[in-house]
Amino acid sequence: MPLQLSQSALTVLSLCQRKFQHVYWDQLSGLMPTEQRSHLEWGSRFHHLMQQRDLGLPLHANSADDVSFYRCMEALVQTVPQIFDPSAWRDRLSEHRRSLRLGDAVFTVVYDLLLLGDDQAQIIDWKTYPRPQQSHWLSQHWQTRLYPFVLAETSDYSPDHISMTYWFVQPYLTEPIPQSITFPYSTAQHQQTRQRLTTLVEHLMASLAAYQDGQPLPQLPEGSAACEDCAFALRCQRGAYAIATPALPTLTDIAEVVL
Ligand code: SF4
Repeated sequence: MPLQLSQSALTVLSLCQRKFQHVYWDQLSGLMPTEQRSHLEWGSRFHHLMQQRDLGLPLHANSADDVSFYRCMEALVQTVPQIFDPSAWRDRLSEHRRSLRLGDAVFTVVYDLLLLGDDQAQIIDWKTYPRPQQSHWLSQHWQTRLYPFVLAETSDYSPDHISMTYWFVQPYLTEPIPQSITFPYSTAQHQQTRQRLTTLVEHLMASLAAYQDGQPLPQLPEGSAACEDCAFALRCQRGAYAIATPALPTLTDIAEVVL
């Protein structure tokens, strides 16, 4: 069976191999901090509403949260009307899933919105948090690399004619102002991503064989910042659950035992 991988799985793997094992191979769900959980819930609610709008389904504001999300949605439509106009594109696909087999792995992506023109393709992704000040970390994020890679491999668009744009909206602002970051893709990046994915799959296959022989994937070193708010900190005895190792007394401090 090939490995099933997504951008989330690659992101977790790049953060901590043991966490990847717990989530994807052990199928464990840990204790997620409340703030992290509510951000995830906002994100999925907003994506759901955007999809409903695209399908032309009636939208009803049943709660203060819904009102806030609609405000964000309308702000997006006002700011970039062309991405919501089906007549501006050869094809316009919402929540569109694609899979790609590469060696021993299948990579699956889900595009929030895919805009296909005659010779250009744009990948659009919605984010429900403020636009980051520095775009470098986002340019290095697995989503920014994997999404254009899979599109280039599964369509006629050359990498140089693909781009990825993140749109950031902030729920609970009275007047949300959407902001964006666009990353053009290129043939050079495509080759680099292929090389990285190929190496990563080979490494993961070796790790999987070792895991099936009872050898867990490595943890992060003790004291790592990522362990502080990790859902598996208790299981790993890291962060707030770290067990302090008692300091050993020096030889001169140990009283002589008279036999
Ligand atoms: S607590 Fe640390 S070592 Fe354990 S899974 Fe989380 S990040 Fe990895």
